[in-house]
Amino acid sequence: MSLRIHHLNCGTLCPSCERLMNGTGSWSKPSTLVCHCLLIETPEALVLVDTGLGSLDIMAPKARLGHVFKRLMRPQLNMAETAIAQIRALGHDPRDVRHIVTTHLDLDHAGGLADFPEASVHVYKPELNAALHPSLREKARYHAVQFAHQPKWVPHDEQGDSWFGFSSIRAIPGLSTDVLLIPLVGHTRGHTGVAVKNGGRWLLHGGDSYFYRGTLEPAPHMPPGLALMELAVQTDSRQRLHNQTRLRQLAATHRDEVDIFCAHDPVEFARLAGTPD
Ligand SMILES: [Zn+2]
Repeated sequence: MSLRIHHLNCGTLCPSCERLMNGTGSWSKPSTLVCHCLLIETPEALVLVDTGLGSLDIMAPKARLGHVFKRLMRPQLNMAETAIAQIRALGHDPRDVRHIVTTHLDLDHAGGLADFPEASVHVYKPELNAALHPSLREKARYHAVQFAHQPKWVPHDEQGDSWFGFSSIRAIPGLSTDVLLIPLVGHTRGHTGVAVKNGGRWLLHGGDSYFYRGTLEPAPHMPPGLALMELAVQTDSRQRLHNQTRLRQLAATHRDEVDIFCAHDPVEFARLAGTPD
């Protein structure tokens, strides 16, 4: 069965120095990063994968996103980019979003949860534990205010069948297509990818398991500013690098069956969303 899957950018981020962050362009102009989310139309319900920045973040960025994120990542804060606005623009009722599947709960991925208070929020159990009981260092990345509406959490940790050699967890039993959590720990304690079956092929939302498309090439490379950011926000370097190696192998051996992308690469987003670079 083929599904309608929409690629949504739910938050444009413009940190300084295009050359250092995007790898090309100007030293003086800001860069462009996206918050790549998916809206999946299934016969049973709408399913959202990640939420980017939400309407409350746009209205109260200082309180919800914090000073450091605002200063460093320089979000555009455009209400039209929020998932709820884009879902309405597509002609859907946001209340039909019954399930949200999250790669992790960093503030630039979980901000939109409050726009869908009735949805079940599927998350890998170690990630939920980290977000609800953060260490001192983790308090900078998980913002309790984004969970103040008490999301309908559905923690998952039961392992399912192997998926191309990765362990997998079926997130939404009863759904007519497979939406799998694929543990890819390292960026955060419980970070996962989300694999979505579409006809005979798969999409793998890699979340923040990597930041730049060049990471998956046989000779991996990435812009130095982005590499620094990846290091600065990692939780476990060894696991992060190990999982990147596994993703690189997956890309090399199964590119015709699995389309892999990450959350913040604007070129991957443009390719999949069908918009010009
Ligand atoms: Zn992120």
